[in-house]
Amino acid sequence: MKITIAERTLHFKQPAGTSRGVYTERRIWLVTMTDGEHTGVGECAPLPQLSCDDIPNYADVLRRFCDVVEQTGEIPYDDLRDYPSMLFGLETAWHSFSSHLSPLRSTFGRLHGKTSHLLFDTPFSRGECGIPINGLVWMGSYDEMQQRIEEKLDKGFRCVKLKIGAIDFDSELALIKQIRQRFSPHDVELRVDANGAFPFEEALYKLELLSQYSLHSIEQPIKAGQWSYMSELCRESPLRIALDEELIGVNDPGTKRQMLNIIRPAYIILKPSLHGGMMGVREWVDIARDMGIGSWITSALESNVGLNAIAQLCSSVYGNPITMPQGLGTGQLFTDNIDMPLVIRGDQLWISNHF
Ligand SMILES: [Mg+2]
Repeated sequence: MKITIAERTLHFKQPAGTSRGVYTERRIWLVTMTDGEHTGVGECAPLPQLSCDDIPNYADVLRRFCDVVEQTGEIPYDDLRDYPSMLFGLETAWHSFSSHLSPLRSTFGRLHGKTSHLLFDTPFSRGECGIPINGLVWMGSYDEMQQRIEEKLDKGFRCVKLKIGAIDFDSELALIKQIRQRFSPHDVELRVDANGAFPFEEALYKLELLSQYSLHSIEQPIKAGQWSYMSELCRESPLRIALDEELIGVNDPGTKRQMLNIIRPAYIILKPSLHGGMMGVREWVDIARDMGIGSWITSALESNVGLNAIAQLCSSVYGNPITMPQGLGTGQLFTDNIDMPLVIRGDQLWISNHF
């Protein structure tokens, strides 16, 4: 088996504002495994200044890991713990490449050239059911955000995630109040993501103000890396807290357990490219379950190759049916995305049988 690496630049339809600034382009590395007959593709997509494996010699390190896989026929999981985006790309390519070994492949494995998109044998992967997703509303001005929320609701989303911390807090609070006056918690589940924007001294006060509007949860109210502050907030907050950036770089199982034990959040949000690949995500879910901590899975600005893998992983991790909305709706972000049999129907992501 041989592995080739192709670097690719994707272009955002609209500049994407994140906790690390505004992106207009996205660089990814596609790894392709082939034995001449069967092919598997995976996406390695580190986020600049955010991923723990956003390193200057990324392509060289990835090549060295690919050489190991070629030589041994196995993924060196332990060596890849600190390189989650590389691990995720290699795991995806491996599942795609090996799917010809599955008896289901001939029935359900869709072909795209010689590449199968069937990574796991689940009802979702077979196109029998969808996964509910949240509608994501990007940072913007008050008017822009209001218009984007209306668009999501018109499309049938019942769970909307708002990025807050970009405009002033009073305006954001006013916007949330306005949404709640029009749509009850029964109509729309609202999640907010602060991306670490609140100073600790103001955080509890802000959480109390936000909690008036029956929000589902808030992601990362304060910056990552302040375990004792975050732990205090989780104890005191009337609004349930979900950890996101906090998980970045926490790659070994002992530290994962220790961190969750100290902070005790209500939820953790799992992004395979950032939080340990498929292996790391399964590990996080198991540890969190043991402690009564909930979780959901989210994409992190991957192309459709990564999104397809994340969605199928999600269906494999959580079983069927998935009732909690997942963060899998970022597939329409790029002008030059890679075709995959993914469609959004209402508020669900599906694998299309008519691709
Ligand atoms: Mg987040």
